[in-house]
Amino acid sequence: MDHDVSTLEHTQETLRRSESLLRDLAASIPGVMFRMVREPSGALRYSYMSPGVQALFGVSVEEACADRGALLERMLPEDRAALDAGVEAATARGAGWELEFRIRNAQGQMRWFQTRARPTPTPEGQMVWTGVSLDITERKEAEQALKASEQTLRTLFETVPQGVVYQDTQGRITSANPAAQRILGLTLAQLQGRDSLDPRRQAVREDGSDFPGEEHPAMRALRTGQPVHDVVMGLTVPGRGPVWIHVSATPLLAGGVVHSVYSTFEDITRSVQLSQELRRQATTDDLTGVANRRSLMEHLKGEVQRIARHPELHCSVLALDIDHFKDVNDRWGHAAGDALLVHLARLMLETVRQVDVVGRTGGEEFTLLLPDTAPGAAQALAERLRQRVQATPLHHEGRIIAITVSIGVSAVLPTDERVDAVLVRADRALYRAKNAGRNAVLRG
Ligand code: GH3
Ligand code: MG
Ligand code: MG
Repeated sequence: MDHDVSTLEHTQETLRRSESLLRDLAASIPGVMFRMVREPSGALRYSYMSPGVQALFGVSVEEACADRGALLERMLPEDRAALDAGVEAATARGAGWELEFRIRNAQGQMRWFQTRARPTPTPEGQMVWTGVSLDITERKEAEQALKASEQTLRTLFETVPQGVVYQDTQGRITSANPAAQRILGLTLAQLQGRDSLDPRRQAVREDGSDFPGEEHPAMRALRTGQPVHDVVMGLTVPGRGPVWIHVSATPLLAGGVVHSVYSTFEDITRSVQLSQELRRQATTDDLTGVANRRSLMEHLKGEVQRIARHPELHCSVLALDIDHFKDVNDRWGHAAGDALLVHLARLMLETVRQVDVVGRTGGEEFTLLLPDTAPGAAQALAERLRQRVQATPLHHEGRIIAITVSIGVSAVLPTDERVDAVLVRADRALYRAKNAGRNAVLRG
């Protein structure tokens, strides 16, 4: 007997404790715990509601349990229909439900709730739903803010005039915006998976030299983890010819580790072409296309400085003047004279190497700069040129016009203090060649 009483007391004590635990729990969660009964008739009522309902919905526990409508009134009408439909569907399936809905609380504020409930059928044919409603307003607001900012970024990505390209750590393109596709002349499908080392990608630097794929700003940013700014690159774009872009690349890091890189670039083809054209105009002679006097003097200055630093090196200079050119003009006309200048310029360019500089330094006077050429070799080249000019007359408007040239040869000396010292020597040699009867090469 004593034993039974103490067992009962113990059981009651355990029950009290678990009840109190439940109450404390129910009071402490940022939401409402509830039990909802669905009668066989379909009628719904709350059989339990935790105290949180007052703070969250502005309805007391008693009101909510007496009339479910008191709670539903707080709910936004469009969400209420979805909630009822969700409960009905879950009842039919005998499964739990999870729904999100909005409440206008007693202060008139709108709050988001998420409710989850699990069903337990009773022998009487009822369905008892036990669940919890949690206030998820902050999460929802954060989600919405994120969505809005993603939308803004997406719009920016889609509409900026700059090209934007993302590449993974292997340098493979993962994404490219419409401007990038337009500038590069490739569709997203064609770009995706390509990398900066792709052999189809032929890039050059502003000076025309090769731009290796591993030096691409994106590849450098991946390697170093540092952004790379303001790189100018020339690309061969299908159907568009050479395209110039101005590129910057920024590595994207997570926990100090580079996980991708994005490049932004703009099409600067027009301004690069314009500046190339201006540079070309500033450095070349309009009529013949060879270097003009100023450009030749620039090159000569560089050679004079180089020889001053390295006296063992060579640079030869030829001064060339057409023989009796005045007679050509007088006899055939000025236009024929001009055509002869063009003809002669072509012969000179065909005779010299790529590194040599041919300049038109006067009306019918030319200067040739021959780096790394000793005077003997320069004289031999001058002689070849003289013979070639003599043997190659110009065919102009049905006439054959032959000319000869006189050439003075000199070399830059390490002791030359003035840039034009070598020109004076070459001119003196030219003068002697003229006096010697023209169509001659003489060394000064
Ligand atoms: P020399 O053998 O002594 O050099 O006789 P030359 O007649 O060639 O004399 P010079 O070198 O003084 O020649 C200058 C002439 O070159 C004057 C001018 O008729 C001609 N000339 C200069 N610039 C041009 C040009 O741009 N076009 C044409 N057609 N003729 C030019
Ligand atoms: Mg002359
Ligand atoms: Mg002349």
